[in-house]
Amino acid sequence: MNKIDIGRVKGKKILAIGAHPDDVDFSCGGTLLLLSKQNRIVLACVTSGQMGTHDEDSDKTDLMTVREREQREAGARYKASQVLFLQFPDFFVSEQPKRLRKRLIKLLVRVRPDIVITHDPWSEYFPYHPDHRVVGFAVYDALLASTLPLYLQKKSVAGVALSPRPELWLMHPHEPSHAVDITSVYPKKIAAIKLHKSQFDGVFVWEKVEKRLVKIFSGVGKEIGARQAEAFRIISPEGDAVFSTERKSKRA
Ligand SMILES: [Zn+2]
Repeated sequence: MNKIDIGRVKGKKILAIGAHPDDVDFSCGGTLLLLSKQNRIVLACVTSGQMGTHDEDSDKTDLMTVREREQREAGARYKASQVLFLQFPDFFVSEQPKRLRKRLIKLLVRVRPDIVITHDPWSEYFPYHPDHRVVGFAVYDALLASTLPLYLQKKSVAGVALSPRPELWLMHPHEPSHAVDITSVYPKKIAAIKLHKSQFDGVFVWEKVEKRLVKIFSGVGKEIGARQAEAFRIISPEGDAVFSTERKSKRA
């Protein structure tokens, strides 16, 4: 696994797309904290996590409002310039594939990111959720489509096609290629996760979750000689082995 020198990623726009509020905080919050120092961050949630409770008396609309607020609060920790909610139905994202692809293409063409971070659709990681897989594949497909002007015309998507294709960082990857040392910001990452108070409802007990997090991120850390690290599989338009953002910065 290659260690990313995150300090060398400068002046980029990062779009982090999660299926639900809290996904990016759990999986890549440390990296977002580090990237936020020299780059612009935009967060997008495909759903607002309306099903994310074990309380059968919970009202879906209320929960949506609460979870969007929690994600905005966490987004402020990364100085996110925008926190966007596509408001697809939680747990049922797979039932609207065409609409999802078009919304994601519009998002990509509007935000024009240099780096897109999202779920690894091939991962069987904890915690499994079908929306993670569906969003991962949809973002992957939308990325290519957003670079094709004739595709945008055919689908009536306004805007200029992306060029070059943004780099894709898949979080919690099945086959990690890179990792970011997040030791210096680990307490801040944990603090951002804890802002999602609605998720620690008695079934998900914080102490148990925290133990699991320590195991995951210290396990990745061992791979690169760090106490805590977050793993990614980076798919670059210039090939998997190259951290193209670094090379582009040097040429600029
Ligand atoms: Zn999720």
